[in-house]
Amino acid sequence: MAMLLQARRVLTQTLPRYNSKSPQTFVKLLGSTHGLHDNVTKRKLFNPNETSGKVITCNAAIIRGPRQPFLMETIRVDPPKKMEVRIKILYTSICHTDLGAWKGENEAQQAFPRILGHEAVGLVESVGEGVTDVKAGDHVIPIFNGECGHCSYCKTKTSNLCQTYRVNPFKSVMEHDGKCRFSTKDGEPIFHFLNTSTFTEYTVLDSACVVKIDPNAPPQEDDLVKLWHLYW
Ligand SMILES: [Zn+2]
Ligand SMILES: [Zn+2]
Repeated sequence: MAMLLQARRVLTQTLPRYNSKSPQTFVKLLGSTHGLHDNVTKRKLFNPNETSGKVITCNAAIIRGPRQPFLMETIRVDPPKKMEVRIKILYTSICHTDLGAWKGENEAQQAFPRILGHEAVGLVESVGEGVTDVKAGDHVIPIFNGECGHCSYCKTKTSNLCQTYRVNPFKSVMEHDGKCRFSTKDGEPIFHFLNTSTFTEYTVLDSACVVKIDPNAPPQEDDLVKLWHLYW
């Protein structure tokens, strides 16, 4: 709990649109407190025809070193490459795993600048080559413990720790080419976190790390996100 409160303070001090009255630790990057479906139908969040295949410029909370303040910066988000998806983040929360990376407790974990965050709800903006299980407009949850569906771990019934996309706090680049999809306005690469990086208006993930959800699920009541809070 202490860690959670500390995390709340971090975000309260650094993210201007943090909703301190929320019963959860949701950060309101965009959207209303109604269901996801309401958000999408009442407000035109983006037009995939205008953004697909192009670099998107948006806001993100970035850390530039251990225990450094979260900085709201304008960043560039590349289009998704093969078997990747680009997502518009609607809501995101923080837990102690983010805080551990923020503190830089393990030297091997230190990769800066970086976008943290691994618990969120979003909307698919566009998909890369080969992605067939989700499409633009789908509501999804990013998964930090993804599943490729092909490796021996994914095929066995006794484990879901995928060989490629299992939880790995040391991984900071995309699987496809070992590069970042985020960069500053000056072209400086910004590192990924835990297969997800959700403290940004747009993020890019491997398609193995997203799960499609019911668009009518109210995001602030989302059972999965609640479970994650309990688990971590
Ligand atoms: Zn967590
Ligand atoms: Zn796998």
